[in-house]
Amino acid sequence: MIQDTIDAMPLPAIVVSRDERIEASNAGAGRLLGSASVGRHYIAIIRQPPLLDAIEVSLRTGARKSAKFLSTEAQKDMTWNAQVAPIGDTGSALVTFEDQTATEEAGEMRRDFVANVSHELRTPLTALLGFIETLRGAARDDADARARFLGIMEREASRMNRLVQDLLSLNRVESEERVRPVGEVDLAALLGSVLNALAPVADESGIEITTSGLDIPGLVSGDADQLAQVATNLVENAIKYAGRGRSVRVSIDKVDRHPMLRGPAVLLVVADTGDGIDAIHIPRLTERFYRIDNHRSREMGGTGLGLAIVKHIVNRHRGRLRIESKPGAGTQFQVILPTSQ
Ligand code: ADP
Repeated sequence: MIQDTIDAMPLPAIVVSRDERIEASNAGAGRLLGSASVGRHYIAIIRQPPLLDAIEVSLRTGARKSAKFLSTEAQKDMTWNAQVAPIGDTGSALVTFEDQTATEEAGEMRRDFVANVSHELRTPLTALLGFIETLRGAARDDADARARFLGIMEREASRMNRLVQDLLSLNRVESEERVRPVGEVDLAALLGSVLNALAPVADESGIEITTSGLDIPGLVSGDADQLAQVATNLVENAIKYAGRGRSVRVSIDKVDRHPMLRGPAVLLVVADTGDGIDAIHIPRLTERFYRIDNHRSREMGGTGLGLAIVKHIVNRHRGRLRIESKPGAGTQFQVILPTSQ
């Protein structure tokens, strides 16, 4: 009877009897605990002190207890919430294991995110506070120093401003990710205006931008502002990371059937002839705050959020982002979007 009951349970579960032996155990518990065979002493199977204590107290006092239980499955660490509850007045206790891994991971991600944001804000804030103090003290009557420090303070304040704006963008894009965009956008025209806006930046960095395919409309269903942000972030990165004297190629291509989308697609390609990216970094580039070279990114005014924003926008548009790079030869970012029907 008790065996049938725990076999029907969706969670791994065991029953420990008054004499401290396994009275029943289901298949989930077998997978989790190795051999949870009936008749064995529970200490031989559980081995983790917090849960051993919980079972011991529950058997002795009849109280409900819970404990954290850790396991490794297919090389992945898992966290379980083990609950120990007395079964009526039989003297036995039911132990169930609830998988908490996803909740733990979400908590960890949130903590990492808060730590990252705080760290990113603290650096410019510390600089600002330092310069304010200097301007009040040592540099009070020094007009040259004042002008120089105000310039640095402006740069640091702009960095914080950009970070806050990127955080807000990311937040908006994430919260809308499941809402399908409604407008129709000509990607070619949109790219043309993004390139116009970035022309002064390219000039200043000594980068030549060549284009192709911008004369034929490439219609996709989408949100024009968000797609402009995708193009801006990718072209800006290409300009920033290619390096002086290198070139950037931007193109729009149309294909009748793209294997990744299994249908007609418009491709936005941004390729640079920069130093390229080592293959180990590529899968992680779209993580928030992931940078290959922290110092270089900050020098360039980067927030580390640009590609995370790109990825979320592309997902919302049911598209794909592909990154290919050859160290020494350059990097190519490809955004593949379904053609508007
Ligand atoms: P950032 O604000 O640092 O530019 P992004 O999310 O836009 O943040 O990019 C993340 C990282 O990816 C950058 O710090 C840089 O190391 C790398 N990266 C992005 N685009 C390129 C590129 N075109 N060439 C080389 N590295 C790049």
